[in-house]
Amino acid sequence: MRIDVVTIFPGYLAPLREALLGRAIAAGLIDVRVHNLRDWTRDVHQAVDDAPYGGGPGMVMRPQVWGEALDDVLGDEPARLIVPTPAGVPFTQATARRWKDEPRLVFACGRYEGIDQRVVDEYASRMPVEEVSIGDYVLVGGEVAVLVMVEAVARLLPGVLGNPQSAEQDSFSDGLLEGPAYTRPVVWRGREVPAVLRSGDHGAIARWRRDRALERTAKRRPDLLAALPEDALDQRDREF
Ligand code: SAM
Repeated sequence: MRIDVVTIFPGYLAPLREALLGRAIAAGLIDVRVHNLRDWTRDVHQAVDDAPYGGGPGMVMRPQVWGEALDDVLGDEPARLIVPTPAGVPFTQATARRWKDEPRLVFACGRYEGIDQRVVDEYASRMPVEEVSIGDYVLVGGEVAVLVMVEAVARLLPGVLGNPQSAEQDSFSDGLLEGPAYTRPVVWRGREVPAVLRSGDHGAIARWRRDRALERTAKRRPDLLAALPEDALDQRDREF
């Protein structure tokens, strides 16, 4: 997968080259290219923003510079353009799963009050474009949102995780939150690892994990339980 990020703070994306993602890049599983939006400015101040029409606080990112940058970065290769914004559709694990099969994702990082809306409208008339939010809060720029989304997508790509089963068993994979996890020692500060996990009885362990996932989801995210399809819970789940 190729990932392009356009930003006025290229340094913000440096963590993409760390740890798991860094290894995936080194292994050629992901090709990440970060572009400085200011390279497409033409004035001496390299201005990327201007005052908003209609008044109000803050500045809006200029369409001309974004248009020239995106034309060059997109080129002729098919891509999906992602525009992070708190006013976007929520980014979820389902979004990550959908994007993992894309050959190319291009992220446009906004700053200030965001990007002139005509940029989104223009590219949406010729290619897939999505305005997405990583949560109901407001960040100062799109860079951190891009780090979040790229990491969520990249760990689903074949070969990126050492053990692909971990992604299959994670929270949200079956619509539930994952239950608690434990490692050695058996007793730590008087707290014991549940006996069933040490029993070697795989059926009992699977049932215990399922019950804890249901319990945790019901307590912390009842909205997820309510959204499960009719056939997602078996008779035993319902008894829980
Ligand atoms: N005026 C905008 C609004 O109220 O919807 C907020 C702009 S925010 C200060 C600046 C940039 O941060 C946005 O253009 C976007 O790129 C990014 N951003 C902020 N919060 C975000 C979120 N929850 N999800 C995704 N991107 C976000």
